Amino acid sequence: MTTALVVPQDLQTLGREMYELVRLLYPICRSITGDGVRQTLALVGDRIPLQIREVPSGTQVLDWVVPPEWNIRDAYIKNGRGERVVDFKRSNLHVVSYSIPTHRRMTLDELREHLHTLPDRPGWVPYRTTYYTPDWGFSLSHDQLAALEPGEYEVVIDSTLAPGHLTYAESVLRGKSESEVLISTHICHPSLCNDNLAGIALASALARALAGRALRYTYRFLFIPGTIGSITWLALNEEHLNRIAHGLVLACAGDPGPFTYKKSRRGNAEIDRAASVVLRHLNREFSFVDFSPYGYDERQYCSPGFNLPVGVFSRTPYGQFPQYHTSADNLDLITPQSLADSFAACWGIIAVLEGNGRYGSVNPKGEPQLGRRGLYRRVGGQQISKGDEMALLWVLNLADGDHDLLDVAERSGLPFAAVRRAADRLLEHTLVRGIDV
Ligand code: ZN
Repeated sequence: MTTALVVPQDLQTLGREMYELVRLLYPICRSITGDGVRQTLALVGDRIPLQIREVPSGTQVLDWVVPPEWNIRDAYIKNGRGERVVDFKRSNLHVVSYSIPTHRRMTLDELREHLHTLPDRPGWVPYRTTYYTPDWGFSLSHDQLAALEPGEYEVVIDSTLAPGHLTYAESVLRGKSESEVLISTHICHPSLCNDNLAGIALASALARALAGRALRYTYRFLFIPGTIGSITWLALNEEHLNRIAHGLVLACAGDPGPFTYKKSRRGNAEIDRAASVVLRHLNREFSFVDFSPYGYDERQYCSPGFNLPVGVFSRTPYGQFPQYHTSADNLDLITPQSLADSFAACWGIIAVLEGNGRYGSVNPKGEPQLGRRGLYRRVGGQQISKGDEMALLWVLNLADGDHDLLDVAERSGLPFAAVRRAADRLLEHTLVRGIDV
């Protein structure tokens, strides 16, 4: 028998705690490898148990190779008066991630080729990377660029690109079953809040709330650099992937936009159905989008050789909010309330996975007499609401061994929690028995 996962108390406090973790992580310069990732994981590891994995540069992972490790201490552009006109110490977005070490003098015109701005958002600094092409560059606001005078500039990027490791972490919560729910979030973006610190905070809060509970599934939380991290994890864990029963990628989870669920490549996996039933009952704007081979690490989990049942939970999807991959994806874009709402939605999805199952009616011929068992409404002294009664009738009717409780929720339009409660009541009265639960 499974029982409903009780919603953790006080979502407001949870929202504030998640926001606080984002604030702590915000200044750190992260990339797909390097000490920024380690510092990030150390702070997450203060909150939940983490196993840190270090995979050497040069390791072959599927069709990819783990790149050299990148670390950066300082970077700037100095004008002729020795003033830092662009300064990594003011914002880590100013340096193109994975820039090779550089120390040069050059004219403004020569320098321009290495400068990135957003002319249509002249106050914002863009986020740029050059992971797999050796290059260097700076990002700055278009206003900053406009203020640069002709003349000679000194350019310094005090970085190292050297054999080292790719760092990622797993947090595993053991349940009754060896079947796993994979929850994955990327950890490779520097000072950007919605994309990806909100996902890190949400995954950490879910892991913390699930810890110590009697769980049906084993939960595996992955904190990994985007693309190369999931490819590395998949390569190292290929023989265990049949354990993954359900999966969810968390990204862009902290802005106040509507919930967005992107379906797995399969399109009708249990996680897709669970998300649909849960989001429909939250009385909030939401949208469902079909799988496409673009986005976050679902691209790897849902590649045809794996085709894992992994969906994506986000608020406004990547690329659809103007602040995306710019300095305006900052602490003002996300709110504790949005983080708390995202938590509640994901918790609801997990509760469905924990509580779903198929049941068989003990009295399938005709309806069992519910009134005799105190399970039917009586005029006066009502013991049971109309909704609860309908849930009992629906569960009994679909307790044919073929349908699961998600089918009941889908066909009845009732919230999953009401359906689950009805199944528990019927189990108590020995009117149904579990088939695969
Ligand atoms: Zn991104």
